[in-house]
Amino acid sequence: MKDLRCEIICVGSEILLGDIVNTNSRFIARELASMGVGVYYHTSVGDNFNRIIDSIDTAFKRGMNVVITTGGLGPTDDDITKEASSKYFGKNLILNEDCVKDLKQVLKTSDITEANLKQAYVPEDCDYIKNDFGTAPGIIFECDGKILINLPGPPRELYKMFDKVKIYLGKFTDKKYYSEILKLSEVEEGDINKDLTDLFQSKSPTLGIYSKGDHIDLRITVECKNDFDGKNLIVPFKEEIYKRVGEFIFSEGTEEIEELLYSELLKRDFKISFGESCTGGMASSRFVNLSGASKCFNESFVTYSNEAKINNLGVSREVIEKFGAVSSETAREMVEGLSRKTHSEVCVSITGVAGPNGSENKPAGLVYIGVKVLDKVYVKKFNFLGDRDLVRRRSSFEALKAAYMILKNL
Ligand code: ATP
Repeated sequence: MKDLRCEIICVGSEILLGDIVNTNSRFIARELASMGVGVYYHTSVGDNFNRIIDSIDTAFKRGMNVVITTGGLGPTDDDITKEASSKYFGKNLILNEDCVKDLKQVLKTSDITEANLKQAYVPEDCDYIKNDFGTAPGIIFECDGKILINLPGPPRELYKMFDKVKIYLGKFTDKKYYSEILKLSEVEEGDINKDLTDLFQSKSPTLGIYSKGDHIDLRITVECKNDFDGKNLIVPFKEEIYKRVGEFIFSEGTEEIEELLYSELLKRDFKISFGESCTGGMASSRFVNLSGASKCFNESFVTYSNEAKINNLGVSREVIEKFGAVSSETAREMVEGLSRKTHSEVCVSITGVAGPNGSENKPAGLVYIGVKVLDKVYVKKFNFLGDRDLVRRRSSFEALKAAYMILKNL
């Protein structure tokens, strides 16, 4: 099977009713595109046995040889994707002891309810994909030149399992692809689209753009013999991207900003603290999300009101009255006070107008970020676009990034 033709079927009445946005299709389509698998159709279907079977049948009848479903693998009665898929291929469901063990491990109990036990049934002669974050394993049907893969609906579970799907599908294609990711921020997607228009049209290498809200990923992909060959093939293309938008690129690879910052802190055995106003603890929370954060995270302060900035971080009342709480002077005093209080080698302050309304006659989106590394203080001004949530997310992101960039260049 050299030419993989794929249809993605998302199962769930929530999708049909518009209660949730179908981000799984987007994720799967991008992942498959990056490995050269053609995606021809996206289908959404409700939790209805006959209509699920009908959708699978339609996909294979219109020439697909790979169908990937997401959703409907849970323990409740309306989760019927596996049952419908088994019926389509005429397979019986058999209790799989390894899946039972996995279930007990994930649920941390040996007392499995009947509803949960349903998830440990695997169709005869089929492989399953272990789910490290949930109770429903994925299922791989391979019959008469047709591949059907059932994956769970929750994105966190699906994303983690998809690497195994890629390894599995890789066996059916002799094409090899090499990809690199460039991470950019402090620029809008539309501007990048404009600057790189001709590169987005290139057939080899190809260039994809993925907006992550607080930053942008550019993915360069090329068909190649091996990774070494792929790496060399993209050099001129990558150089051209750097020439045009290099000022916005802050890293290469898949590591998130908190992981990059964490590595820099760990390397130097430094501790970090945050003094947050408009982000209300978001930057600290994002950092602490990393397992192992305790090695570098000291303590943080959410100083939302002026009084809190004065009382907890020692910001002077005069500075706030003269320049405002949202000012480079206040950001500087916040980070200096934070450093006096915590003695962390790296201190970060954030003060800004999250919106939607302005404050102190300053516009929504105006944010100042202060970073103190050892005895040096840096303050940067930002004007973020977006609603309240996006401004706060971008502020947290840029705060982590500012600390990372300073440490990286120390
Ligand atoms: P569960 O064990 O949670 O029931 P499941 O495999 O049965 O998992 P669903 O019940 O269909 O999956 O969906 C569970 C949740 O996963 C949904 O409430 C939704 O939050 C998310 N989800 C499902 N499908 C999608 C999708 N296509 N795109 C984004 N999120 C989705």
